[in-house]
Amino acid sequence: MRLTYSPEDEAFRAELVAWLEEHPPPPADQQEQRQSSAHMPAWAAEWQRTLFDHGWLVPGWPPELGGRNATAVQQMIYFEEFSARDVPRSFNPQGLSIITPSILDYGTEEQKERWAIPTLRAEITWCLGMSEPNAGSDLASLQTRAVQHGDAFMVNGQKVWTSGAHHADLCFCFVRTDPEAPKHKGISVLVIDMKTPGIETRPLPELTSPDYADFNEVFFTDVEVPAENLVGELNQGWPITRGSLVHERRMLWVSSANGLQRAVDALIELGHETRPDGAELYDDPRFRDLVANYFVDAQAALLMGYRGFAKSTVGKEPHEHSLLKMFGSEVEQRLCLTAHEWLGAYGLDRSIEAEPIWRQGSWAEQWMRSFAGTIAGGTSEIQRNILAERVLGLPRG
Ligand SMILES: Cc1cc2nc3c(=O)[nH]c(=O)nc-3n(C[C@H](O)[C@H](O)[C@H](O)COP(=O)(O)OP(=O)(O)OC[C@H]3O[C@@H](n4cnc5c(N)ncnc54)[C@H](O)[C@@H]3O)c2cc1C
Repeated sequence: MRLTYSPEDEAFRAELVAWLEEHPPPPADQQEQRQSSAHMPAWAAEWQRTLFDHGWLVPGWPPELGGRNATAVQQMIYFEEFSARDVPRSFNPQGLSIITPSILDYGTEEQKERWAIPTLRAEITWCLGMSEPNAGSDLASLQTRAVQHGDAFMVNGQKVWTSGAHHADLCFCFVRTDPEAPKHKGISVLVIDMKTPGIETRPLPELTSPDYADFNEVFFTDVEVPAENLVGELNQGWPITRGSLVHERRMLWVSSANGLQRAVDALIELGHETRPDGAELYDDPRFRDLVANYFVDAQAALLMGYRGFAKSTVGKEPHEHSLLKMFGSEVEQRLCLTAHEWLGAYGLDRSIEAEPIWRQGSWAEQWMRSFAGTIAGGTSEIQRNILAERVLGLPRG
């Protein structure tokens, strides 16, 4: 099989590459200064705004939404180039990739003007209020309650793992508006201004970087939200949870495979590391074997991504998405552990940095962080359930 792009598509790639050379993204050490996934310093907003103004922010969308009506294949090329360079499009990814598409799909014209366009122009940032202490994988069990009184809702409850909540301007919040209805049917979506009285955010410091917190617990006590901030129909919020995930998928096809390849490249580089006993890791054939296996895994992930993408362009809902999410994140986790184990105690040394797979840090830190990939966006166990039930047709447990 030969995978090639048409001359028109290669011309699209050349234009993008030339543009990226003329408009370099913020350097990695500047990116490291960000305090959370909703912290948008001026340089970060400027980068996103430049992409928006030149139609490179969401290329599949029309120019007024930061795009250039690119075809599906061209969007794939776009993500190939961005993920190969490890360049973020936005420093508030949940705002751009999950919340804005949901507002465009379900919001009123007024809401699109009020929230979607300013988000694209990097004027406002968001957090996503889905998970709760008793509602993660089983999101439909969420209990944060919103009761309508005239032209406002009163919100009470708690969210958790809310990325960037302490820096976000707004929360795209899933609330229960009908406690009597079956659990998938009584959910609605409210946009909540994070400065409203009654909201308390408690950042959760991370084990890997105690001075960095992206996750939060968010408490809502008698928080008044204007009824006009309801997105979609009352009690019809469940399809919006599904919709927001669908929007992420197109990006995943190649970006996760490229992320894995970057981790493999870092491991290849690590093989030249000399341990205190003077030996190179490559002196041991077992290490060489492991590197080769991870390289093959990364190639498999890339081909799986291309196959899933090809199916998605003809309107199919490919199961490769679950496979890729599970396989990619688990291989990356094993790879980080391999590096950490082979370096031994020496691997705890921060001066031997893994080429930033997420953020700077030793291989031990990268390994601890790699667990996020097997949890966020549906845990590995949930992906296995999906594959078992929907692909293999096994009975539900
Ligand atoms: C990096 C990152 C960013 C995140 N950002 C956000 C955010 O911005 N907003 C937000 O709302 N949430 C966010 N989350 C939370 C995330 O959505 C949840 O962690 C995820 O849905 C899992 O839910 P949980 O943590 O409650 O685990 P649980 O659902 O309680 O699961 C615990 C364990 O049980 C297993 N399990 C659960 N149900 C089943 C089942 N049916 N079959 C087999 N095994 C099962 C799980 O796989 C897991 O191992 C983020 C998470 C991460 C890691």
